[in-house]
Amino acid sequence: MGKFLKRTVHTVFLMLGNSCNMNCRYCLQHPLVTAQLPSKINPEIYDFLKDCAKELTEGQKLHIQFYGGEPLLYFDAIREITERTHAYCWHSVITNGKAVTKEMVAFFNAYKMPVTISWDGRNVMETRGYDVFADKEKRKLLLGIEKLGLSAVLSSKAYPLDILEDFQAISDDYYKIHGYQVGINIDEIFNTGDLPEELLAVDYPRVESEMLGLGKFYLEKRLNGSRTELKDYTKLSYVDRLFGMLKRFYADGDGRFHKHYCSCGNGYDVLNLDLEGNLYPCHNTSSKIGTITDDYFTYLNKVLCSDNTKVNMSVCSDCPAIAFCRGGCKLVNAEARREGYCRLKQAVFLPVLSVFEEYGRRMAGDVNGG
Ligand code: SF4
Ligand code: SF4
Repeated sequence: MGKFLKRTVHTVFLMLGNSCNMNCRYCLQHPLVTAQLPSKINPEIYDFLKDCAKELTEGQKLHIQFYGGEPLLYFDAIREITERTHAYCWHSVITNGKAVTKEMVAFFNAYKMPVTISWDGRNVMETRGYDVFADKEKRKLLLGIEKLGLSAVLSSKAYPLDILEDFQAISDDYYKIHGYQVGINIDEIFNTGDLPEELLAVDYPRVESEMLGLGKFYLEKRLNGSRTELKDYTKLSYVDRLFGMLKRFYADGDGRFHKHYCSCGNGYDVLNLDLEGNLYPCHNTSSKIGTITDDYFTYLNKVLCSDNTKVNMSVCSDCPAIAFCRGGCKLVNAEARREGYCRLKQAVFLPVLSVFEEYGRRMAGDVNGG
Protein backbone atom coordinates (compact mmCIF):
# COMPACT_ATOMS: atom_id res chain seq x y z
CA MET A 1 0.00 0.00 0.00
CA GLY A 2 1.24 3.47 -0.85
CA LYS A 3 1.63 6.14 1.78
CA PHE A 4 -0.98 8.50 0.32
CA LEU A 5 -3.56 9.29 3.03
CA LYS A 6 -2.23 6.51 5.17
CA ARG A 7 -4.09 6.21 8.48
CA THR A 8 -1.53 5.69 11.24
CA VAL A 9 -3.13 4.52 14.44
CA HIS A 10 -0.36 3.64 16.87
CA THR A 11 -2.47 2.94 19.98
CA VAL A 12 -5.91 1.50 20.64
CA PHE A 13 -7.43 1.90 24.09
CA LEU A 14 -9.57 -1.19 24.57
CA MET A 15 -12.39 -0.16 26.85
CA LEU A 16 -13.18 -3.42 28.64
CA GLY A 17 -16.07 -2.21 30.85
CA ASN A 18 -17.01 0.47 33.40
CA SER A 19 -17.04 -1.65 36.56
CA CYS A 20 -14.55 -0.70 39.22
CA ASN A 21 -13.63 -2.13 42.62
CA MET A 22 -12.70 1.31 43.98
CA ASN A 23 -14.40 4.68 44.09
CA CYS A 24 -11.66 7.24 43.55
CA ARG A 25 -12.88 10.69 44.43
CA TYR A 26 -11.40 12.39 41.36
CA CYS A 27 -12.28 9.73 38.80
CA LEU A 28 -12.57 11.51 35.44
CA GLN A 29 -15.17 9.01 34.36
CA HIS A 30 -17.78 9.74 37.06
CA PRO A 31 -19.28 12.74 35.26
CA LEU A 32 -18.59 11.41 31.76
CA VAL A 33 -19.81 7.83 31.87
CA THR A 34 -23.55 7.64 31.48
CA ALA A 35 -23.95 4.22 29.86
CA GLN A 36 -22.50 0.78 30.52
CA LEU A 37 -19.92 -0.55 28.06
CA PRO A 38 -20.67 -3.87 26.34
CA SER A 39 -18.86 -6.88 27.81
CA LYS A 40 -19.11 -9.44 25.00
CA ILE A 41 -16.27 -9.52 22.48
CA ASN A 42 -17.41 -9.01 18.90
CA PRO A 43 -14.93 -11.11 16.84
CA GLU A 44 -14.89 -8.37 14.16
CA ILE A 45 -12.70 -6.24 16.41
CA TYR A 46 -9.85 -8.65 15.67
CA ASP A 47 -10.05 -7.93 11.93
CA PHE A 48 -10.16 -4.23 12.71
CA LEU A 49 -7.09 -4.41 14.97
CA LYS A 50 -5.25 -6.44 12.35
CA ASP A 51 -6.06 -3.81 9.69
CA CYS A 52 -4.77 -1.02 11.95
CA ALA A 53 -1.57 -3.00 12.56
CA LYS A 54 -1.08 -3.58 8.81
CA GLU A 55 -1.06 0.17 8.21
CA LEU A 56 1.94 0.68 10.50
CA THR A 57 5.52 0.72 9.27
CA GLU A 58 6.82 -2.78 8.65
CA GLY A 59 8.02 -4.46 11.81
CA GLN A 60 6.01 -2.16 14.08
CA LYS A 61 3.30 -3.59 16.30
CA LEU A 62 0.04 -1.90 17.26
CA HIS A 63 -0.18 -0.88 20.93
CA ILE A 64 -3.27 -2.09 22.77
CA GLN A 65 -3.83 -0.30 26.07
CA PHE A 66 -6.28 -2.22 28.26
CA TYR A 67 -8.56 0.21 30.02
CA GLY A 68 -11.59 0.21 32.32
CA GLY A 69 -13.31 0.93 34.74
CA GLU A 70 -10.85 -1.38 36.38
CA PRO A 71 -9.22 -3.62 33.74
CA LEU A 72 -8.24 -6.45 36.10
CA LEU A 73 -11.95 -7.17 36.67
CA TYR A 74 -11.95 -8.14 33.00
CA PHE A 75 -8.89 -10.35 33.10
CA ASP A 76 -10.52 -13.10 31.00
CA ALA A 77 -10.99 -10.59 28.18
CA ILE A 78 -7.40 -9.34 28.61
CA ARG A 79 -6.14 -12.90 28.32
CA GLU A 80 -8.24 -13.78 25.29
CA ILE A 81 -7.41 -10.59 23.38
CA THR A 82 -3.71 -10.77 24.19
CA GLU A 83 -3.44 -14.38 23.09
CA ARG A 84 -5.30 -13.71 19.85
CA THR A 85 -3.45 -10.53 18.88
CA HIS A 86 0.10 -10.82 20.19
CA ALA A 87 1.50 -11.62 16.74
CA TYR A 88 0.74 -8.07 15.59
CA CYS A 89 0.11 -6.11 18.83
CA TRP A 90 1.87 -5.34 22.06
CA HIS A 91 -0.19 -4.72 25.19
CA SER A 92 -0.18 -2.70 28.39
CA VAL A 93 -2.53 -2.13 31.34
CA ILE A 94 -3.44 0.80 33.60
CA THR A 95 -4.93 -0.50 36.85
CA ASN A 96 -5.47 0.26 40.52
CA GLY A 97 -3.89 -3.13 41.27
CA LYS A 98 -6.41 -4.16 43.90
CA ALA A 99 -7.57 -7.33 42.12
CA VAL A 100 -4.05 -8.53 41.21
CA THR A 101 -3.32 -12.26 41.54
CA LYS A 102 -0.25 -14.44 41.10
CA GLU A 103 -1.71 -15.79 37.87
CA MET A 104 -2.11 -12.28 36.45
CA VAL A 105 1.47 -11.31 37.29
CA ALA A 106 2.76 -14.48 35.59
CA PHE A 107 0.65 -13.66 32.52
CA PHE A 108 1.80 -10.02 32.34
CA ASN A 109 5.42 -11.09 32.65
CA ALA A 110 5.04 -13.83 30.03
CA TYR A 111 3.84 -11.20 27.54
CA LYS A 112 6.32 -8.55 28.77
CA MET A 113 3.38 -6.28 29.45
CA PRO A 114 3.95 -2.86 31.02
CA VAL A 115 1.56 -2.50 33.96
CA THR A 116 0.96 0.96 35.45
CA ILE A 117 -0.49 1.19 38.94
CA SER A 118 -2.52 4.29 39.79
CA TRP A 119 -1.38 5.29 43.27
CA ASP A 120 -0.98 8.69 44.92
CA GLY A 121 1.53 8.07 47.69
CA ARG A 122 1.07 8.77 51.41
CA ASN A 123 -2.41 10.32 51.22
CA VAL A 124 -3.88 7.74 48.87
CA MET A 125 -6.58 6.82 51.40
CA GLU A 126 -7.95 10.33 51.05
CA THR A 127 -8.06 10.22 47.26
CA ARG A 128 -8.69 6.59 46.43
CA GLY A 129 -9.87 5.12 49.75
CA TYR A 130 -7.53 2.12 49.43
CA ASP A 131 -3.76 1.70 49.60
CA VAL A 132 -2.69 -1.20 47.43
CA PHE A 133 0.96 -0.98 48.57
CA ALA A 134 0.01 -1.11 52.27
CA ASP A 135 -1.28 -4.66 51.75
CA LYS A 136 1.85 -6.82 52.12
CA GLU A 137 0.64 -9.61 49.85
CA LYS A 138 -0.43 -7.25 47.06
CA ARG A 139 2.74 -5.21 47.36
CA LYS A 140 4.81 -8.35 46.90
CA LEU A 141 2.79 -9.40 43.86
CA LEU A 142 2.99 -5.95 42.28
CA LEU A 143 6.74 -5.71 42.84
CA GLY A 144 7.03 -8.98 40.92
CA ILE A 145 5.78 -7.33 37.73
CA GLU A 146 8.72 -7.03 35.37
CA LYS A 147 7.57 -3.82 33.70
CA LEU A 148 6.03 -1.83 36.51
CA GLY A 149 4.98 1.82 36.39
CA LEU A 150 3.43 4.16 38.96
CA SER A 151 1.08 6.99 38.10
CA ALA A 152 -0.29 9.58 40.53
CA VAL A 153 -2.73 12.47 40.33
CA LEU A 154 -1.48 15.78 41.67
CA SER A 155 -4.32 17.25 43.79
CA SER A 156 -4.85 19.14 47.05
CA LYS A 157 -4.03 15.82 48.77
CA ALA A 158 -0.92 14.89 46.79
CA TYR A 159 1.92 17.31 45.97
CA PRO A 160 4.88 16.58 43.68
CA LEU A 161 7.66 16.19 46.26
CA ASP A 162 5.64 13.83 48.48
CA ILE A 163 4.55 11.78 45.50
CA LEU A 164 8.11 11.51 44.16
CA GLU A 165 9.50 10.57 47.56
CA ASP A 166 6.87 7.86 47.99
CA PHE A 167 7.47 6.58 44.45
CA GLN A 168 11.19 6.52 45.24
CA ALA A 169 10.65 4.27 48.29
CA ILE A 170 8.76 1.75 46.13
CA SER A 171 11.28 2.05 43.35
CA ASP A 172 14.13 1.34 45.78
CA ASP A 173 12.48 -1.93 46.84
CA TYR A 174 11.76 -2.76 43.23
CA TYR A 175 15.38 -2.13 42.27
CA LYS A 176 16.56 -4.69 44.83
CA ILE A 177 14.52 -7.34 43.02
CA HIS A 178 14.98 -6.39 39.37
CA GLY A 179 18.10 -4.22 39.17
CA TYR A 180 16.19 -1.38 37.49
CA GLN A 181 13.65 1.23 38.55
CA VAL A 182 9.89 1.59 38.07
CA GLY A 183 8.47 3.95 35.43
CA ILE A 184 6.78 7.03 36.88
CA ASN A 185 4.16 9.56 35.86
CA ILE A 186 2.23 12.40 37.52
CA ASP A 187 -0.97 13.83 36.02
CA GLU A 188 -2.63 17.00 37.24
CA ILE A 189 -6.17 16.73 38.61
CA PHE A 190 -8.88 18.23 36.43
CA ASN A 191 -12.56 18.70 36.52
CA THR A 192 -14.64 17.10 33.78
CA GLY A 193 -17.89 17.81 35.64
CA ASP A 194 -18.61 17.39 39.32
CA LEU A 195 -15.36 16.66 41.12
CA PRO A 196 -15.18 17.50 44.86
CA GLU A 197 -14.10 21.12 45.43
CA GLU A 198 -11.91 19.97 48.30
CA LEU A 199 -9.68 17.94 45.98
CA LEU A 200 -9.49 20.72 43.42
CA ALA A 201 -8.43 23.29 46.03
CA VAL A 202 -4.73 22.91 45.25
CA ASP A 203 -2.23 25.14 47.06
CA TYR A 204 -0.74 26.69 43.91
CA PRO A 205 2.17 28.54 45.59
CA ARG A 206 3.22 25.23 47.14
CA VAL A 207 3.18 23.54 43.72
CA GLU A 208 5.15 26.44 42.21
CA SER A 209 7.77 26.38 44.91
CA GLU A 210 8.21 22.58 44.72
CA MET A 211 8.45 22.69 40.92
CA LEU A 212 11.03 25.49 41.05
CA GLY A 213 13.08 23.40 43.45
CA LEU A 214 12.78 20.37 41.19
CA GLY A 215 13.86 22.37 38.14
CA LYS A 216 16.94 23.69 39.96
CA PHE A 217 17.75 20.25 41.29
CA TYR A 218 17.55 18.86 37.75
CA LEU A 219 19.83 21.55 36.42
CA GLU A 220 22.40 20.89 39.07
CA LYS A 221 22.34 17.11 38.76
CA ARG A 222 21.57 16.43 35.11
CA LEU A 223 22.64 19.33 32.98
CA ASN A 224 25.77 20.10 34.96
CA GLY A 225 26.86 16.51 34.55
CA SER A 226 26.88 15.21 38.16
CA ARG A 227 26.64 11.46 38.59
CA THR A 228 23.05 10.22 38.86
CA GLU A 229 22.45 8.54 42.17
CA LEU A 230 19.71 5.96 42.64
CA LYS A 231 18.08 8.00 45.38
CA ASP A 232 17.46 10.87 42.93
CA TYR A 233 15.87 8.68 40.27
CA THR A 234 12.19 9.67 40.56
CA LYS A 235 12.87 13.41 40.76
CA LEU A 236 15.17 13.37 37.75
CA SER A 237 12.94 11.08 35.77
CA TYR A 238 9.92 13.35 36.36
CA VAL A 239 11.74 16.46 35.18
CA ASP A 240 13.36 14.51 32.30
CA ARG A 241 9.90 14.19 30.78
CA LEU A 242 9.24 17.92 31.08
CA PHE A 243 12.63 18.73 29.62
CA GLY A 244 11.92 16.36 26.70
CA MET A 245 8.60 18.14 26.00
CA LEU A 246 10.31 21.50 25.97
CA LYS A 247 13.05 20.28 23.68
CA ARG A 248 10.55 18.80 21.23
CA PHE A 249 8.60 22.04 21.16
CA TYR A 250 11.47 24.50 20.78
CA ALA A 251 14.48 22.63 19.45
CA ASP A 252 12.81 20.00 17.25
CA GLY A 253 9.77 22.17 16.40
CA ASP A 254 9.55 25.92 15.79
CA GLY A 255 8.22 26.99 19.21
CA ARG A 256 4.61 27.26 18.04
CA PHE A 257 1.67 24.91 18.46
CA HIS A 258 0.30 24.03 15.03
CA LYS A 259 -2.18 21.27 15.72
CA HIS A 260 -5.85 22.03 15.46
CA TYR A 261 -6.86 18.89 17.27
CA CYS A 262 -6.18 17.59 20.78
CA SER A 263 -2.56 16.81 21.42
CA CYS A 264 -3.29 13.57 23.30
CA GLY A 265 -4.34 12.26 19.86
CA ASN A 266 -7.49 10.57 21.15
CA GLY A 267 -9.91 9.86 18.33
CA TYR A 268 -7.11 10.32 15.75
CA ASP A 269 -3.89 8.32 16.01
CA VAL A 270 -5.14 6.90 19.32
CA LEU A 271 -8.45 5.05 18.95
CA ASN A 272 -10.85 4.22 21.77
CA LEU A 273 -12.67 0.99 21.10
CA ASP A 274 -15.10 -1.09 23.15
CA LEU A 275 -15.48 -4.85 22.86
CA GLU A 276 -18.50 -4.58 20.60
CA GLY A 277 -16.70 -2.39 18.04
CA ASN A 278 -17.95 1.08 19.00
CA LEU A 279 -15.53 4.01 18.84
CA TYR A 280 -15.28 6.96 21.25
CA PRO A 281 -13.47 10.33 21.12
CA CYS A 282 -11.74 9.47 24.42
CA HIS A 283 -11.59 6.37 26.65
CA ASN A 284 -12.95 8.37 29.60
CA THR A 285 -16.36 9.05 28.08
CA SER A 286 -19.25 6.80 27.15
CA SER A 287 -20.55 8.99 24.28
CA LYS A 288 -20.06 6.91 21.15
CA ILE A 289 -18.85 8.57 18.00
CA GLY A 290 -18.98 5.71 15.52
CA THR A 291 -18.27 2.04 14.94
CA ILE A 292 -15.57 0.02 13.22
CA THR A 293 -17.88 -0.48 10.22
CA ASP A 294 -18.26 3.28 9.55
CA ASP A 295 -16.28 4.81 6.72
CA TYR A 296 -13.25 6.65 8.03
CA PHE A 297 -14.25 10.04 6.65
CA THR A 298 -17.63 10.03 8.43
CA TYR A 299 -15.96 8.92 11.63
CA LEU A 300 -13.20 11.54 11.43
CA ASN A 301 -15.67 14.32 10.75
CA LYS A 302 -17.55 13.47 13.94
CA VAL A 303 -14.34 13.40 15.96
CA LEU A 304 -13.30 16.79 14.63
CA CYS A 305 -16.73 18.27 15.41
CA SER A 306 -16.43 17.16 19.03
CA ASP A 307 -12.94 18.64 19.45
CA ASN A 308 -12.69 22.27 20.62
CA THR A 309 -8.91 22.53 20.47
CA LYS A 310 -9.04 24.91 17.53
CA VAL A 311 -11.43 27.24 19.37
CA ASN A 312 -9.32 27.09 22.53
CA MET A 313 -6.22 28.10 20.56
CA SER A 314 -7.23 31.77 20.74
CA VAL A 315 -6.32 31.56 24.44
CA CYS A 316 -3.75 28.76 24.37
CA SER A 317 -1.49 30.19 21.67
CA ASP A 318 -0.52 33.07 23.99
CA CYS A 319 -0.09 30.86 27.04
CA PRO A 320 3.49 30.41 28.30
CA ALA A 321 2.68 26.80 29.31
CA ILE A 322 1.81 25.78 25.75
CA ALA A 323 5.03 23.79 25.21
CA PHE A 324 4.00 21.37 27.94
CA CYS A 325 0.23 21.56 27.99
CA ARG A 326 -0.27 21.83 24.21
CA GLY A 327 -3.83 23.07 24.42
CA GLY A 328 -4.96 20.78 27.22
CA CYS A 329 -7.76 18.26 27.28
CA LYS A 330 -10.58 18.59 24.77
CA LEU A 331 -13.11 17.38 27.36
CA VAL A 332 -12.48 20.34 29.69
CA ASN A 333 -14.76 23.27 28.95
CA ALA A 334 -13.88 26.96 29.00
CA GLU A 335 -15.34 27.49 32.47
CA ALA A 336 -13.31 24.69 34.08
CA ARG A 337 -10.23 26.02 32.28
CA ARG A 338 -10.76 29.46 33.83
CA GLU A 339 -11.62 28.02 37.23
CA GLY A 340 -8.38 26.18 37.86
CA TYR A 341 -7.38 23.83 35.05
CA CYS A 342 -5.01 26.35 33.48
CA ARG A 343 -3.83 27.71 36.83
CA LEU A 344 -2.63 24.27 37.88
CA LYS A 345 -0.96 23.50 34.55
CA GLN A 346 0.87 26.81 34.78
CA ALA A 347 1.85 26.21 38.42
CA VAL A 348 3.46 22.92 37.40
CA PHE A 349 5.14 23.99 34.18
CA LEU A 350 6.13 27.64 34.42
CA PRO A 351 8.64 27.36 37.28
CA VAL A 352 10.44 24.59 35.38
CA LEU A 353 10.33 26.67 32.22
CA SER A 354 11.89 29.63 34.06
CA VAL A 355 14.77 27.45 35.25
CA PHE A 356 15.44 26.14 31.75
CA GLU A 357 15.22 29.63 30.27
CA GLU A 358 17.74 30.89 32.78
CA TYR A 359 20.02 27.99 31.91
CA GLY A 360 19.61 28.76 28.18
CA ARG A 361 20.54 32.40 28.79
CA ARG A 362 23.60 31.38 30.77
CA MET A 363 24.74 28.99 28.05
CA ALA A 364 24.18 31.63 25.35
CA GLY A 365 26.15 34.12 27.48
CA ASP A 366 29.00 31.63 27.84
CA VAL A 367 29.06 31.03 24.09
CA ASN A 368 28.82 34.70 23.16
CA GLY A 369 31.28 35.73 25.79
CA GLY A 370 33.73 33.09 24.57
S1 SF4 B 1 -2.67 26.03 30.46
FE1 SF4 B 1 -4.68 26.50 29.61
S2 SF4 B 1 -4.32 28.21 28.20
FE2 SF4 B 1 -2.33 27.26 28.64
S3 SF4 B 1 -2.04 25.76 26.97
FE3 SF4 B 1 -2.99 24.69 28.71
S4 SF4 B 1 -5.19 24.74 28.30
FE4 SF4 B 1 -4.23 26.31 27.00
S1 SF4 C 1 -9.27 13.77 25.74
FE1 SF4 C 1 -7.12 13.30 26.01
S2 SF4 C 1 -6.40 14.62 27.69
FE2 SF4 C 1 -8.66 14.55 27.76
S3 SF4 C 1 -9.17 12.89 29.21
FE3 SF4 C 1 -9.17 12.03 27.13
S4 SF4 C 1 -7.09 11.24 26.91
FE4 SF4 C 1 -7.04 12.67 28.62
